[in-house]
Amino acid sequence: MVACLLMSLVLLSATVAENPAVVADQLDGREKQLENLYADYWRTEYQIAMGKHNLSSRPIQEEIRTVVSDDAFLRDLERTSFSDPLLQARRKLFLNEAVYTRITNNPALTAVVEQITQQENTIRYKVGDRQLTRAELTDVLAHNPDRKLREQAWRATSQITAANGERIQNAIKLRNQLARKYSSELFSTFLLHRKGMEVQTLFEWFEDIRTQTEPEYQRLLDRMRRELGIAKIEPWDLEFYFSHFTNEFESQKFSTKDGWSKAKELTADLGYSLDPVEMHIADLSFPGAAYPVLYGREVKILANRYSGTYFYDRLLHATGHALHYQMMAEPSFLLRNNYAEAMDEGMAQVIALMMYRPEVNTKLFALTPEQASVVGETYRLKTFFTVRNTIADSLSEFEAYADPDQDPSAVYNRIHAEYLGVDMHDAAVWAFNPMYGSDPIYLESFVVGEMVAHQIQHKADQEFGKNWDKRAGAYLKTSFYSHGAAQSMDSLMRRGTGEPLTPRYLIHFLQHPSEQTSFRNRGTGAGKKAIE
Ligand SMILES: [Zn+2]
Repeated sequence: MVACLLMSLVLLSATVAENPAVVADQLDGREKQLENLYADYWRTEYQIAMGKHNLSSRPIQEEIRTVVSDDAFLRDLERTSFSDPLLQARRKLFLNEAVYTRITNNPALTAVVEQITQQENTIRYKVGDRQLTRAELTDVLAHNPDRKLREQAWRATSQITAANGERIQNAIKLRNQLARKYSSELFSTFLLHRKGMEVQTLFEWFEDIRTQTEPEYQRLLDRMRRELGIAKIEPWDLEFYFSHFTNEFESQKFSTKDGWSKAKELTADLGYSLDPVEMHIADLSFPGAAYPVLYGREVKILANRYSGTYFYDRLLHATGHALHYQMMAEPSFLLRNNYAEAMDEGMAQVIALMMYRPEVNTKLFALTPEQASVVGETYRLKTFFTVRNTIADSLSEFEAYADPDQDPSAVYNRIHAEYLGVDMHDAAVWAFNPMYGSDPIYLESFVVGEMVAHQIQHKADQEFGKNWDKRAGAYLKTSFYSHGAAQSMDSLMRRGTGEPLTPRYLIHFLQHPSEQTSFRNRGTGAGKKAIE
């Protein structure tokens, strides 16, 4: 990039400035080409995730790279200044997209990433004499009362590290080399800047969340020891602990086959229609996803074959993404496609959070007030674990990019032991997180997305009360779901909620048990039976 800029400065003095109208036309044309290529890309990725492992999106990624890295056009674009602020914003996005694509669509890198993903899609985890898919393994960890089996399942997650660990390390080194060449930054720093965030601010938010929730988290670990009747909490107890409360009614009230009709019912209350969105359930190597094939016109969802509340949580999260892609009303492809990622995660989470509200779940899932209280409080406790775990995942990744020669397992285990308060037993489980291979420097957006969602939820409650109706839906659409990259995350949050983005509402949620006492005073009867 530095070399490229210098060259264009030299040329600038020798040539006449471009006609802005001509360059704007060319920009239009290239954005349309990109829109079609990305539509092919997402359709192919969707097929691959559905099990067509012989397909590849690499040829399309190569075509995308050709369209955005045409040196002659980039020179023209760099030399042109537009008076229209939207055109000027699109110009900046295109130039950034060129650098980004040169890095991430580098043929050597996409080849490694494809190998990583293929391995993740095809691996079966050996537990005893059984061969489990990722979804089945996750289910054992979350729901199986046999503690020895859970330990085996947790240790089995290291099987993907044996297969993929070295490849992921190679991808990290390659991304750093490419970022140094094209942006003169570390890959992690370049990517975070592209998403409109600063490393310093992000790490401050992480630290605020960790320190302000630490006493409550320690109390939670005490409580887990007491309720599970064990002296030491192990990594294979965490997911299970947060899932066992609802075991008695979960399968009955949260049936997988009703998933899509419940999602439609929930969003219809807000005045939204999911009819144009296509949804399939499949065995996936990731929790689920929404695909913005063509914004506003063709949006697809894949839900993983999970069960119970976790199935609904992930489905509704994907639904939130789909609503964003469906309602996006920006005037050009780059303005649609370059939304701030953490905003998008926040909008997805706003919908997922709804299922934990008694105003919603007593009606939608016919829960009794006691069951609603258990679901809400279990979710709050589980969020403690997931937020701290995701911060640890994200910090481990930033460390890996800062010094790729460190042992990734040692770094990961040190940080996770600190954030989760458990011994990681020197097990090389880090590569079980599929984000490290295929979606680098994305994890922080889940945490920031939680901050966004709780802040938006707080504002909507203030304005419309806890029973959100079509007016709340209209507010969410106007302030958030219709927006892409024309406004920054900071500006959207200020305009939409009246204050800058803050971790305060997430921290407040984590610190405050729900009002109902039935959950906390619940005897040891049914609860004990479920965890034996
Ligand atoms: Zn998401």
